[in-house]
Amino acid sequence: MLKEKSVVITGSTSGIGFGMARAFAAQGANIMLNGLCEGGEIEKARGSIESEFNVKVIYSPADMTKPEEIADMITDTKCELGSVDVLVNNAGIQHVSPVDEFPTDKWDQVIAINLTAAFHTTRAAVPLMKDSGWGRIINIASAHGLVASPFKSAYIAAKHGIVGLTKTVALETAQQGITCNAICPGWVKTPLVEKQIDAHAQAHDLPRDEVIRKVILERQPTKQFVKIEEVAALAVFLASDAAASITGASMSIDGGWVAH
Ligand code: NAD
Repeated sequence: MLKEKSVVITGSTSGIGFGMARAFAAQGANIMLNGLCEGGEIEKARGSIESEFNVKVIYSPADMTKPEEIADMITDTKCELGSVDVLVNNAGIQHVSPVDEFPTDKWDQVIAINLTAAFHTTRAAVPLMKDSGWGRIINIASAHGLVASPFKSAYIAAKHGIVGLTKTVALETAQQGITCNAICPGWVKTPLVEKQIDAHAQAHDLPRDEVIRKVILERQPTKQFVKIEEVAALAVFLASDAAASITGASMSIDGGWVAH
């Protein structure tokens, strides 16, 4: 079904993005990896997906704060893989601080990577998808795209923003074989979350497992992390023909978090 489709996944050198790259490759799709990474590591990751799944995997070091590099990444995908069929906007960072102390450069960086980059990838990919009459845009938002928590103003503004962008793009492309949806995960154990666990443990002099139990998973009714593979499977489903009538949706995968 996704065999030989071209899938661009921003921020796919780590965590959820890397898991999605593997899941799409397992369906026979060719992959454009992107994200921050040391040269040797990315070559290892690229080669391992390519040989395990017998697909083509390329890499763009495009910085998601730089519009020209983002446009080049989409052009390179079209040139080297032949098309841009699925776009997954996944790159993201976090910064935790009270709003009145939030550093303005951190605000700008979080909004640029978590929200504005998705505008730039989408505006470059949609004309290619319109030409081929088929496309899937999947935005990795968050439970924090639907509800808030204190001290994460930039992240939550960006994630609420991407839910709005998702609905608008869905309406604009609804008659062109293109769908645009958001996935809203709860806590997933990735480097982004490991950093928050470490920071909280250090700041409050608490053991990590207590931070996980009492702070991190406090909002997640299952009291379990969502698995990377579960998020990846939902992304693959949204890219499938079975999901052709799902567009403009924000799909929670959060162990019940936003049911509160
Ligand atoms: P992660 O830190 O493991 O991965 C983030 C990826 O973004 C990495 O590949 C990194 O290199 C890339 N990235 C960062 N800055 C970049 C830049 N300037 N240009 C290009 N790439 C850049 O984090 P993750 O947890 O896998 O997060 C992936 C997405 O999932 C993010 O959008 C995050 O907000 C979202 N999310 C994560 C969780 C969670 O609990 N982990 C929950 C909800 C939503």
